[in-house]
Amino acid sequence: MGQIAVLDQNMINMIAAGEVIERPASVVKELVENSIDAGATKITVAVEDGGRKLISVSDNGCGMGADDLDKAFEPHTTSKIRTAADLHGISTLGFRGEALASIASVARINAVSRTHDSPAANCLEIDCGNKTDVRPCSGDYGTTIQVRDLFYRLPARRKFLRTANTEMGHITEQFIRIALSACAASEGPEQDQHSTAAALDLTLIHNGRELYRLPAGQDLLQRIPTLFPTLCGNPRDDFIQVRSSERGMHIHALLGKPAISKTSTRFQYIFLNGRFIRDRFISHAIREAYRGLIEPNRFAVVFLFITMPFQDYDVNVHPTKTEVRFYNANFVHSQILGAFRERLLGTNLDVPAELPAVPASAPIPGAPASGHRSRQITEAMAEFFRKHRAEHSQRRLEFESKYHHAQAPAVQPAISPPPQAPPPAEPASAAKTFIQIHDSFIIAETDGGFVIIDQHALHERILYEDLHRRIHHGNLESQRLLIPQSFEVTQTQAALLEANAGLLERLGIELVPFGPRTLAVQAFPSLLAKADPADFILDLIDLLESRHTAPDPQALLEQALSMAACKAAIKAGQRLSDSEIEQLLARRLEADSASRCPHGRPTTISFSLKDLEKQFKRK
Ligand code: ADP
Ligand code: MG
Repeated sequence: MGQIAVLDQNMINMIAAGEVIERPASVVKELVENSIDAGATKITVAVEDGGRKLISVSDNGCGMGADDLDKAFEPHTTSKIRTAADLHGISTLGFRGEALASIASVARINAVSRTHDSPAANCLEIDCGNKTDVRPCSGDYGTTIQVRDLFYRLPARRKFLRTANTEMGHITEQFIRIALSACAASEGPEQDQHSTAAALDLTLIHNGRELYRLPAGQDLLQRIPTLFPTLCGNPRDDFIQVRSSERGMHIHALLGKPAISKTSTRFQYIFLNGRFIRDRFISHAIREAYRGLIEPNRFAVVFLFITMPFQDYDVNVHPTKTEVRFYNANFVHSQILGAFRERLLGTNLDVPAELPAVPASAPIPGAPASGHRSRQITEAMAEFFRKHRAEHSQRRLEFESKYHHAQAPAVQPAISPPPQAPPPAEPASAAKTFIQIHDSFIIAETDGGFVIIDQHALHERILYEDLHRRIHHGNLESQRLLIPQSFEVTQTQAALLEANAGLLERLGIELVPFGPRTLAVQAFPSLLAKADPADFILDLIDLLESRHTAPDPQALLEQALSMAACKAAIKAGQRLSDSEIEQLLARRLEADSASRCPHGRPTTISFSLKDLEKQFKRK
């Protein structure tokens, strides 16, 4: 006897629901997308018990007539595509025609809708696929769909729903994506940066309490702090705007400065023609753009809005449509990487010092108390000036006499001069405008105030860029060691070095066998003269051994270079001569990205004169 039965339609819908409707948040997403497609300018989402009890979405969109309302909940019904050709030009958020049918097969639905030319509304109820007839009722223009008791007839699915709090978290995330994309949707490629105002008024209510009320007319920089109250201080200071346009692809992005980086990619929001997406290529481009500007275990905050012709990608690869396929992924990758990198490198990313707010003569009620961190900085500075006043003036005298009378220093400076050694930036007679403290930090005067520089981090960045440039131009000189330095390796390690011979060669390192299980370094890059060759190779072996993923030669080279720069850079605790400090400061101005060490930590904290004057109540 045959075992194969044809599934009835409701069963098919329930299975489809498993793909599209995972949890209450998916219902919110589908319903709100429908409202947006219906041209709504005001959408209210009201939820009870994390959506487990009720999800209601009301809009003021075009509404549906009695016929359409009836059809909308049938499977494969959509007003958005008619032919296969339409699939290539999808400008709406929906098109599969399965969301309403899926939802209706796994919950109790109450739908009311009224078109703008209709004297009355129509409504219908559905209980897990069992529909009542459509009948007239009273109601506003637009559509309200209420979804109750999701999965109540599917105990196995219902069991997978989490606590109201967790489900509400997912719903909020969906709501945030829509709220952000609404800002971008109003944006055209030719418009200026003030045109990101959202045309959509959005409200989210949970158990009768209003969680978000986002009026239309808000732009991105206003919406971001409303949606993420703790993400940043002042979004105008914490983000860099980028716009670029090439071959029909337009990008607009807000790039979070490294100072507000996060421990996950949660705050990377990517929208393609108003649709939230996740994409490996784009995530990779973002990571690359920030390389060396943030620490490797931190992630940038990025809001990226891409507009491109619908023909250039396929959205029909994933039921929830968060994944797309770009027909020219390389172009997308390189445009994003190029535009972001250029903008980031062209921006001063020095960390501004956070000074405590100066209390006004009368305390302002509700004014934020000065932060813990700011207090720490001020205390540390006060402490520093207390301790160092005497020493500082003494060093200044020493310096001046040395400057006026001494010959060039006999000792070899720790900092090797740049390829074309520039003359000292200022004439020797200029007053000295820097000091070194604790043999670790340099305080230097700038036009608008002063900076505190971490000498190791800055030198590391300079060496790293130097190494990079030279490798790129193929002129990384290496130097033969008078006495080859030997070190022991296991057989696997020797094999690993052998397998990475190309990398060693690019780094200008020459190894020779030196007996059983012993190798020797015969040549080593001159730029790394300060690093111990054998020690460096052993660390390089560690690096090679720790790479579990398929080695990407470029990433490996980067890691090796930042390791090399770290080892060869002057250390914290190393006393520097004034001419060494001068060289360091001069080369700081030449570096592409002097604000961050290659590992992404800040090298410089800047203090503005204006803030100081405020602190000392001069203004
Ligand atoms: P899709 O959005 O993929 O077309 P859905 O099942 O989500 O499929 O919706 C089916 C159809 O119902 C839509 O194509 C649209 O015509 C209609 N519809 C759904 N929601 C609304 C709404 N809020 N306002 C007006 N029409 C709607
Ligand atoms: Mg839809």
